[in-house]
Amino acid sequence: MPGAESRASLALVDVGAAPRSIDHEAVQRAVADLLGALGEDVDAEGVRETPRRVAGAYAELLTSPPFRLTTFPSEGYEGLIVARSIPFHSLCMHHLLPFRGLAHVGYLPGERLVGLSKLARVVELFARDLQIQERLTVQIADWLEAALRPAGVGVVLEAEHMCVSLRGVQRPGACTVTSALRGAIRDDEHTRQEFLDLTARTFHQGGTAA
Ligand SMILES: [Zn+2]
Repeated sequence: MPGAESRASLALVDVGAAPRSIDHEAVQRAVADLLGALGEDVDAEGVRETPRRVAGAYAELLTSPPFRLTTFPSEGYEGLIVARSIPFHSLCMHHLLPFRGLAHVGYLPGERLVGLSKLARVVELFARDLQIQERLTVQIADWLEAALRPAGVGVVLEAEHMCVSLRGVQRPGACTVTSALRGAIRDDEHTRQEFLDLTARTFHQGGTAA
């Protein structure tokens, strides 16, 4: 009964980031102070509720819902598994401005596979935080390596940062690409090339088909 055996060897891991403690009232006071310092009349009709709305928005942007990671036996599958173009957004810890883009997450299985939708949840788990893109990339790769013990992990993020597009050098659409490659996806030339070919296709979407 291979079906029953597979179900019996399902492994469930409860995943939740350490809960962030958010003092909503203090955030609202701080936002009101910020508005005042920026020269706004904090009692004006359009602005009166802004501290409450901003506190709610930041709480949502910085909280990742817990989820269950399901793993199951790889049963001989030895190829690359890549989830491409997972949309994500995060908050730049340097400017408190959003950055958003696409994540490509892949692995070369060891003994366990992970439910496909869970790769997007892992990205979200670390993106809902004050971040820099480099750290986010590494955290996703580290986490998958520890949780799955795969033969290789590859994470590529491409993102547009509002702190770059809207201020300073102002290059709308400028895209920052970061990668973290581990195990065979880093060390084996053929596997690395296959992973990069699979993820690179997205970068040229809308351009000429390669
Ligand atoms: Zn920034």
